[in-house]
Amino acid sequence: MRELGFSVMWLKLNQEQYTTFRFPRKDKDWEVGEIVRVVFHPRSKDRKVLGTAQIMGKQPRTLAPYSPAPVTPEEALEDGFESLMIMRNWMRKRYGNLKACNPMNKLTILWVSRDTYCFQCGVRTHGMKFCEKHSQVALEDDCAPD
Ligand SMILES: [Zn+2]
Repeated sequence: MRELGFSVMWLKLNQEQYTTFRFPRKDKDWEVGEIVRVVFHPRSKDRKVLGTAQIMGKQPRTLAPYSPAPVTPEEALEDGFESLMIMRNWMRKRYGNLKACNPMNKLTILWVSRDTYCFQCGVRTHGMKFCEKHSQVALEDDCAPD
């Protein structure tokens, strides 16, 4: 399973379905139907697997002006940016002026299963707020300080 990395913990990741704009991969590009592992900071020590998802859609887009398939202001908002201009600036800062205008794909991602983590200790749980150990504590003494 390939990994789809995110460098920002976007609020959109809390939605069941969300979008992400990606330049085509050099090896083999993302495919509709592909199941991916969604990972926060994939190549760093604070790497965190967020869950498993499926790529539901892939549509060509660019940030270049006058292109046949421009990113729309609505798509920029849906993707978590405050405006298309802010998205454009973010991409330019990250990839440089030239690359920021290269063809991208708008990928639509649907969670298949999300990994959850104990609020107390960070251990992986199965959809629960707390791990087994801390759920006992939480039930008995919900509002007590540590
Ligand atoms: Zn815990």
